[in-house]
Amino acid sequence: MQGNFDVIIIGAGIIGLSTAWQLARRSRLRVLVLEKGAGVGEGSTGASSAVCRYRYSLDTVVQLARDGIKAYRHWEEFTGLAEPAARFEQDGVLWLTGQSAGWAAREHARMQGLGIATEVLKDSDLAERFPALSTCTLAPDLETGEEHDCVGGGEHFFEVEGGYMDPTAAASDLLAACRGAGVTVHFNAAVAEIRQAGGAVTGVSLADGSHYAAGCVVNAAGPWCNVLLHSAGLSLPWRLSPTRIQIVYLDLPPALQTALPVTVDMDAGIYFRRQNRGQQLVLGSTLESDEQERVADPENFNRLADDSFMQAKLHALHHRIPSLPYTGRVTSYCGLYTVNEQDVHPVIGPTQLAGFYLANGFSGHGFKLAPAAGALLARMISGEQDAFDTTADPAFFRVDRAPIALSSKSVLA
Ligand SMILES: Cc1cc2nc3c(=O)[nH]c(=O)nc-3n(C[C@H](O)[C@H](O)[C@H](O)COP(=O)(O)OP(=O)(O)OC[C@H]3O[C@@H](n4cnc5c(N)ncnc54)[C@H](O)[C@@H]3O)c2cc1C
Repeated sequence: MQGNFDVIIIGAGIIGLSTAWQLARRSRLRVLVLEKGAGVGEGSTGASSAVCRYRYSLDTVVQLARDGIKAYRHWEEFTGLAEPAARFEQDGVLWLTGQSAGWAAREHARMQGLGIATEVLKDSDLAERFPALSTCTLAPDLETGEEHDCVGGGEHFFEVEGGYMDPTAAASDLLAACRGAGVTVHFNAAVAEIRQAGGAVTGVSLADGSHYAAGCVVNAAGPWCNVLLHSAGLSLPWRLSPTRIQIVYLDLPPALQTALPVTVDMDAGIYFRRQNRGQQLVLGSTLESDEQERVADPENFNRLADDSFMQAKLHALHHRIPSLPYTGRVTSYCGLYTVNEQDVHPVIGPTQLAGFYLANGFSGHGFKLAPAAGALLARMISGEQDAFDTTADPAFFRVDRAPIALSSKSVLA
């Protein structure tokens, strides 16, 4: 293998493929995607819950999420595929805010200003739309499991156009769209070295000894990004740490299969969503304390959830869905966030090595942000606009920014 390209993208996860597709949509640049695995979805993307929610604490991130989700919601138009494998499941995203008085109304007003369809629901609205969900505003006791008398009366925040997608199917669609537009994608192609001369990138070398030349290289290697940063000789202020994230899967009985939105139970520290048309539920954590297990080697970590994690999350789930039976199959899976330890937000853009770009450190946000993050990079690299662009300010995510000040560094930041 050998050749010359304008842009080489390392990694065929959702970030690399979104960037490649956003380049193909808007330019005639010759793009090569190199993926060390045998197919798409081998890294974080394949393990992702792929929840697409809009609300973040900072408006620029909301804009990036909004513009990314727009591509997923108009997937056929975005990909140009007549029959894509993936479909946006617009179940809505419900935030149960516990006893945080006024939070839902404030967020509703903020989201209206950003063009996002949201509602504030009272207990009666919730009971009518999602009768399976308890309206309790008290957090379950996850230490002792002790029951309490539930108390309603909260205000609940609902993102009407939120939802989720099958992340591997979405990546497969982007692969098909890219190849259809002339992007070259090679699998089983592990990049071993970033080549450079005179302070500028000149291409990459593969583990098999072959070389590709390009004046622009994008590091979209997810949890493996640090190996490439090291190869490029870059020492950044960011600690981008592969971090084990546990997810529980359980079967849902027929009565619950249609009646659940994507739910963020803030006080209980869980989120859940339907899967496979409601036959299953995906259950994860929103707690910063569950995002601390750093992994030295992204190829080698425990892929099954801990019993203690599963028990605590299931206890919180039963509190929120009282009719959920205690019988049925429960399984688990773990994947990797690449947590930006300083501010849990991605670094996107050029580095001091001319032509070398980063799209790394997406923590738990990368699926929903991918189409818009790809747009940011594609615009920087090609200078061209596109219908599926973003109004989010690229400076906010730049590699040489100061860390963003945040009150919480959890996935809900
Ligand atoms: C359990 C879990 C739940 C999540 N839930 C959500 C969610 O609900 N919503 C959301 O928005 N985000 C979520 N995320 C985060 C999101 O999935 C990630 O941010 C996103 O998938 C990162 O995509 P990526 O393309 O950067 O990385 P990856 O998908 O890891 O892709 C990187 C690719 O690069 C390849 N690669 C690495 N090194 C090399 C090399 N040297 N040469 C060639 N190829 C290489 C890898 O094989 C891999 O395929 C979740 C993540 C996890 C793990």
